[in-house]
Amino acid sequence: PAGLPSPSAVIERRAKALGPGLRQFYDQPFMPVRGHGAWVQDESGRRYLDAYNNVPHVGHSHPHVVAAVARQLREINSNTRYLHPAVVEYAERLLATMPPELDTCLFTCTGSDANDLALRLARAYSGREGIVATESAYHGNTVAVSALGPLSGGDRVPWVSLVPHPPHGPQPDPAAGGAEFAQAMQRGIDELGYRDVEPAAFIYDTVFVSDGFRIPEPEVMRAGLRPVREAGALVIADEVQVGQGRVGDTFWGFGLYGAVPDLVTMGKPTAAGIPVGSVVTRREIVDRFLAAGHHYFNTFAGSPVAAAAGLAVMDVLEREGLQRNARVVGGRLLAALEELRTRHGSVRAVRGRGFAIGVELRAPDGGPGTGEARAAINALLRHGVLVGLAGPARDVLKIRPPMVFGFAEMRYLLDALDQVLDEIEGCDTPAGA
Ligand code: PMP
Repeated sequence: PAGLPSPSAVIERRAKALGPGLRQFYDQPFMPVRGHGAWVQDESGRRYLDAYNNVPHVGHSHPHVVAAVARQLREINSNTRYLHPAVVEYAERLLATMPPELDTCLFTCTGSDANDLALRLARAYSGREGIVATESAYHGNTVAVSALGPLSGGDRVPWVSLVPHPPHGPQPDPAAGGAEFAQAMQRGIDELGYRDVEPAAFIYDTVFVSDGFRIPEPEVMRAGLRPVREAGALVIADEVQVGQGRVGDTFWGFGLYGAVPDLVTMGKPTAAGIPVGSVVTRREIVDRFLAAGHHYFNTFAGSPVAAAAGLAVMDVLEREGLQRNARVVGGRLLAALEELRTRHGSVRAVRGRGFAIGVELRAPDGGPGTGEARAAINALLRHGVLVGLAGPARDVLKIRPPMVFGFAEMRYLLDALDQVLDEIEGCDTPAGA
């Protein structure tokens, strides 16, 4: 489009005005300025397939969402202290997707403040302070939640204990896998005890994306939650990565395990980029929080525009059958990536569910493919495909596309990835080397 500054001019001005802390995703400048469905366009008009973003959950600039937000903005958008029917309707709509005991919805603006609020609720309810989280998880950027893992550079604090991700994938003996996870969880709880801290909650990203997409079998997950319950702590399911249909088989990630959490937090995918997050929990938990003298108010959270956007996203998910799409196309994509793995020595493993898939790379010496993964996402950009990185070693390609990703998009991604892996391996490197 005419009139746009060049990406290099934007980089220079951005460094001056926004400071040095903002990193770029890719080694080369990339500036998407338009989006439609699973595709985006940069300033030069070049198209890219978006296989990464869950913020445009129902596709970039979906006309139904755009119209709903524009309509609400024309009518009113104000302080959330006032009544508005859309906000109530949105809360009811979210609650209708939850198990019945999760009957109360509190709105936030981001995933971080949803998790922060969940911690406050769990602490007020239990009268305790300790939080157990998985080793490489990311739960956000507030003082409290950034202490829950290494990814945000948070300081280690006495009230946090980190446990390894559960044994994942099909287990030869799920009972043994479950026992292993339960023991690790017990050690995490005991570690708090050595510091005179009692556990208030265990928080987990429901498909362990930042731990490298480590999805356990239901029995393994449930076994790991048992010591949490026995210690009198609550379970917080963080759905910021994969909530609202992404895993395909269930609407929420926690549904994969058949274990209902006490608090569910969400953000990113809920409202097409309008900042909306929420905590859904049981009424008694909110009651005790209030009875203990705590308050929660958040000026922008659950505004009429936020609710209009969130409702429109729910409409599109339902009308276009996008959870089913994630199950069907995601299932085929996972199988095709597994086939790709057998032909490419640089691919160590493929893991995931629905439209939440990790492709772990390895270096030629067998170590983590950190450099390979970095090279792959840059090469994929040159091939016109957006993919991200995950895992503690940043050696996992993160495939988490908008939910409208179809079979044509799947083929485009697979062809590009096939070529990129050839480039990375060098054309004459034998598979399995
Ligand atoms: N939880 C998880 C699992 C996340 O992946 C993220 C963001 N990547 C957050 C919480 C924080 O969300 P936000 O950036 O909206 O604060």
